[in-house]
Amino acid sequence: SVSSPVLAVENVAGHYADSHILHGVSMHVSPGEVVTIVGRNGAGKTTLLRAIMGILTKRSGSIKVFDKETIAFAPERIARLGVGYVPEERGIYATLDVTENLMLPPKVAEGGMSVEQIYQLFPNLRERRKSPGTRLSGGEQQMLAIARVLRTGAKLLLLDEPTEGLAPVIVQQIGATIELMKKQGLTLVLVEQNFRFAARLADRHYVMENGRIVDAIERSQVTARMDAIKSYLGI
Ligand code: ATP
Repeated sequence: SVSSPVLAVENVAGHYADSHILHGVSMHVSPGEVVTIVGRNGAGKTTLLRAIMGILTKRSGSIKVFDKETIAFAPERIARLGVGYVPEERGIYATLDVTENLMLPPKVAEGGMSVEQIYQLFPNLRERRKSPGTRLSGGEQQMLAIARVLRTGAKLLLLDEPTEGLAPVIVQQIGATIELMKKQGLTLVLVEQNFRFAARLADRHYVMENGRIVDAIERSQVTARMDAIKSYLGI
């Protein structure tokens, strides 16, 4: 691609205390792409997202976001560049209703959506706007967690297992939402266990094993490489 990448990760190492988890990870994401990170449990996928967001403090190498080096930045500063992170546990406030959850994080980057724009994109959240976090289904919580980072102005979204624990019909809804976000020009990095779901959406898959990227599979190669993919994922 001729346009410079939204995200360029080069030779990144990462540690938790004394455990060396990421070993020289490199990957890139172009504007408007949906890219997945796949691999077995414990491969380091969540840790890589945490490194990109700056939450993993013991990291080295190079992580450029919109051409800016962020390897020494705190998470707030990375958020201000337009990066939004939706962790696996989603982080919805139980006692706040949907609108309050949306309003809570400040807009940090330019061009954040208004609550009205968000309700246009997520009509089911509008219907539930007065419901407290505790009353939302898993799917509604996931939608809300995504919507909330869109409000902050994030242009690069890091989603950790958005379909985890959700019923198939809700997984479909999340897929449609991701497609809509892609159409709007957002860029997405997705950690995903559900490969069938991932394959429908993604332009490219990075395969992680033991803290390393061991393969990169373009959308056009998925069918031909299905045996390798199954063996990587143990499916
Ligand atoms: P999963 O799908 O199980 O979340 P993953 O690919 O996302 O897998 P990570 O969560 O990134 O894997 O974990 C990578 C390795 O880091 C694992 O060996 C895990 O035990 C270890 N690890 C994760 N969090 C911590 C932590 N806070 N402190 C120490 N080690 C950790």
